[in-house]
Amino acid sequence: MKKLEDYVTSIPNFPEEGIVFRDVTTILEDPDGLCLAVDGVRKMLEGVEYDSVIGPESRGFIFGVPVAYAERKGFIPVRKKGKLPREVLSMDYELEYGTATIELHKESIKPGQKIVIIDDLIATGGTIEAIIKLVEQLGGEVVKICFIMELAGLQGREKLKGYDVESLIIYE
Ligand code: 5GP
Repeated sequence: MKKLEDYVTSIPNFPEEGIVFRDVTTILEDPDGLCLAVDGVRKMLEGVEYDSVIGPESRGFIFGVPVAYAERKGFIPVRKKGKLPREVLSMDYELEYGTATIELHKESIKPGQKIVIIDDLIATGGTIEAIIKLVEQLGGEVVKICFIMELAGLQGREKLKGYDVESLIIYE
């Protein structure tokens, strides 16, 4: 029986020299890999009380939507700047080189709404830290953060102190 990590392909020197990119497309392409990932996150959410799932463009959509569907929750997309059509709240965050901006529809979060964030991977934690700020500025509460993979060496969890964070695969 293969484990979820067996479905990840590690690509050396992508997108640039010295980076090992953890490719999730080989999880998605295999029905067993996809089930292990989606069911693994669903298991993390057992006993968690929440209203909605949030995921960032684009791999957060891939894993967030099937979990939300299976758990009968709504899914709220976080998108790159300029993509969402209604009134948005924006947040800038640091990338390795430069900054990026993500956006959330203001009407998507109501005060007190309990939110689970799902993404494919945590590296520095910058993306998720920005999403937490967006959710909290709109009065929502982040009750759990789920990743398929975690690059523990980059210490992204340091940015998420005080939150309930879980990953299916941890790369040291
Ligand atoms: P962070 O903001 O934690 O530094 O970066 C996390 C974001 O970068 C995630 O949304 C993730 O999709 C993307 N990312 C960074 N490195 C990798 C990688 O090796 N594999 C995949 N699949 N995504 C990555």
